[in-house]
Amino acid sequence: QAKSLENRNYFIFDWELREKLEQKTMIAKYLLSALEREEFVLHYQPQINAVTGKMVGLEALIRWNHPEKGLIGPGTFIAAVEEAGLMIQLTDWVIREVCRQLCEWRKLGMPLLRTSINISNSWFYNRNLIENLLSVLEHYGLDTEVLEFEITESTALLEEHYPLLQQMRDHGIIVSIDDFGTKYSSLNYLKHFPVNKIKIDRTFITGIGISSIDETIIKSIVYVASQLGYDLIAEGVETAEQLEFLVNHDCPHIQGFYFSPPLPAEEILNRMAS
Ligand code: C2E
Ligand code: MG
Ligand code: MG
Ligand code: MG
Repeated sequence: QAKSLENRNYFIFDWELREKLEQKTMIAKYLLSALEREEFVLHYQPQINAVTGKMVGLEALIRWNHPEKGLIGPGTFIAAVEEAGLMIQLTDWVIREVCRQLCEWRKLGMPLLRTSINISNSWFYNRNLIENLLSVLEHYGLDTEVLEFEITESTALLEEHYPLLQQMRDHGIIVSIDDFGTKYSSLNYLKHFPVNKIKIDRTFITGIGISSIDETIIKSIVYVASQLGYDLIAEGVETAEQLEFLVNHDCPHIQGFYFSPPLPAEEILNRMAS
């Protein structure tokens, strides 16, 4: 009696697992073919000097140009890419595409703008990472200084990545911490972590003029960054009031809809040309 129940449970479990696995395999195949058919595109969001209003850099943000559904944002597929084990491949594609684009803009006589790329934790397990990176840059005739890597605080906490990050920095690649202040409030890792730049998360910027706690946190981040010699940028700046607060409290750079949403490469070219 007990035995057959056990078998039955096992059978149910197995069946559900199989269905999940099949679903996952299907999604993985779908994403892989999207990669192979080059259905992904990058949009670029300007990063601005808060005082002069000058464009000083770009952030590359991925979209899936789905043949039927149109443009799909990363929020809906990034986790699936990770689950499908395709994040290394996708990130490699993003890096190559950014380099290709920068090379194209340069050929058109445009200034080279440093472009940041969102790097997920799993990419650090890529073999020969530095060698591959340098050879892509060399292929497009670009200096390492044109790239910035945005990592999250969860990656920053993994000490096993420090030697690689240090190597990247030694090669002149800028490393920044994305969504700063959202995951781990401990500032301890900043003591040991080879970082150049901090991106203040949008959730704090939203509180400007509304929450004195958010305003205090922003002021504290500005202080810490300047004392430790990090560059700083505020993400998700949407209003003139937010911009004014950030300028008044010495946040040097901003990014957000107030200045520009992420734009297709052609529109960035128009902005650079004007
Ligand atoms: P993130 O790196 O923090 O990027 C900022 C997100 O905020 C972008 O959303 C951007 O469009 C949006 N944003 C910018 N300014 C404003 C603003 O003023 N107001 C508001 N409400 N939103 C603003 P997006 O493009 O949907 O990207 C979402 C997230 O997906 C990114 O967050 C990043 O974590 C991830 N992601 C995007 N591209 C890539 C990629 O190539 N690789 C990886 N691994 N992740 C990516
Ligand atoms: Mg980012
Ligand atoms: Mg962010
Ligand atoms: Mg974010």
